[in-house]
Amino acid sequence: MDLKAPRGTKDILPKEATKRQYLERAFEDLCHRYGYEEIRVPTFEYTELFVRGVGDSSDVVRKEMYTFQDKSDRSLTLRPEGTAGVVRAFIEHGMASWPAPLKLWYKLNMFRYEKMQKGRYREFWQLGCEVFGASASTADAEVIGLLDAYFAGLGLEGIRLEINSIGCPACRETYKAALRAYYEPELPHMCEDCQVRFTRNPLRMLDCKEDSCSRLAEGAPVQLDYLCDDCKEHFTLVRQALDKQGIHYLVNPRIVRGLDYYTRTVFEFVSENVGTQGSICGGGRYDGLVHELGGPDVPAVGFAMGVERLMLEMEAQGITLVEKPGPDLYIASFSATSADALALAASLIRQGLSAETDLMGRSVRAQMKAADRMGAGFILVLGEEEVTSGQGTIRKMADGSEETILLDAIGTYLKENKEGKP
Ligand SMILES: [Zn+2]
Ligand SMILES: [Zn+2]
Repeated sequence: MDLKAPRGTKDILPKEATKRQYLERAFEDLCHRYGYEEIRVPTFEYTELFVRGVGDSSDVVRKEMYTFQDKSDRSLTLRPEGTAGVVRAFIEHGMASWPAPLKLWYKLNMFRYEKMQKGRYREFWQLGCEVFGASASTADAEVIGLLDAYFAGLGLEGIRLEINSIGCPACRETYKAALRAYYEPELPHMCEDCQVRFTRNPLRMLDCKEDSCSRLAEGAPVQLDYLCDDCKEHFTLVRQALDKQGIHYLVNPRIVRGLDYYTRTVFEFVSENVGTQGSICGGGRYDGLVHELGGPDVPAVGFAMGVERLMLEMEAQGITLVEKPGPDLYIASFSATSADALALAASLIRQGLSAETDLMGRSVRAQMKAADRMGAGFILVLGEEEVTSGQGTIRKMADGSEETILLDAIGTYLKENKEGKP
């Protein structure tokens, strides 16, 4: 049997895992400094959650979900996105009664049956935030600001923020009527999907990828021209709050999110760099979703960002991420002292240092080579004489300088002398 990872999935090998850890830790750290707490939700949910939460007219629900029956004949779906599950948990655990606002972040893998292309996988990872309970424009401006700070912290350049307002249910009806009036005469020339969308949800016609449909979308009326007074004011305040943070943006009235539950602010961070052009991250406000899924009326705003897309962008911009650092100390040993070397390494690790020793029964010469290859800060050869006397010679790999010290004092010595010590 020729066993391979399923099409659309990929193994994350140690080198890449190290890079991802760097991106993830930077995100976690930033979220925590902004006062966000982590949430983890199940990998699969009842299918109905996504049908109702993502919208049955969306491509995700209609074409891309991994749905299956379990042994009790319930329909389950691997999560295609994070928000629906987080909202379900929010309702199920009565979080509406918790102190508001509730600010959450997540790091989750998602599953979508998508066409294969560069940087797109059928299992992929997203980093995201959701803020519940705050309808104020400052909440929108906070999550956008968090992302802006994240990209800046990673050293990414040429990332453009585009924002738009898609109104509330009240002003959207006026807009939908305007859209139908625009599309009706063209309907015979549009794709089959759009014929359905015309009745179900004409907003979806705007992001149809068929050539003839997308050409028509360019001339379609925009929601921005149909906002009610409240939505207009909210959008103005979001923009002012971004201005005060010194965040540049472009108002793009053509941004329509692919999911049905967004209200008012929608935004995207778009790469301007040749080779990786396109959206890196998208989000917005979804004031109607908690209620839609059976919860109380609680406003919310959030975003999700694809880790694979972010990795491509980092690579394209030549930003090298930290490699796995070598151990503070490598302890070379002989067969008679290998267990002593292991014990010394374990004791140093318990003191908060990093240490490695040979597990292969290799010659001291081969161990020296290994220590060099892994980038050890110091090296110590532990023979029977060292074990008996309780003393050894520690060598700094960077300059070859040597010092004889008590084995018991190595921990203190390393803490004082290692590279990059605080
Ligand atoms: Zn409105
Ligand atoms: Zn179409």
